[in-house]
Amino acid sequence: MKACKQCHLIVEEGEVCPQCKGALSREWQGYAIIIDCTRSDIARQIGVKQNGKYALKVR
Ligand SMILES: [Zn+2]
Repeated sequence: MKACKQCHLIVEEGEVCPQCKGALSREWQGYAIIIDCTRSDIARQIGVKQNGKYALKVR
């Protein structure tokens, strides 16, 4: 699995992020499942604006 360098979305396959069209990276660590992005501290920290599964760190 890869993670988007821009929005941190975790993507199962493909070359670009389906959400923001950003580049994907295999170099990521940890993930969080955001189910309510408006109330999640993690979502705020990594700049997530939609619910989904996101990597905590992407290089
Ligand atoms: Zn993205």
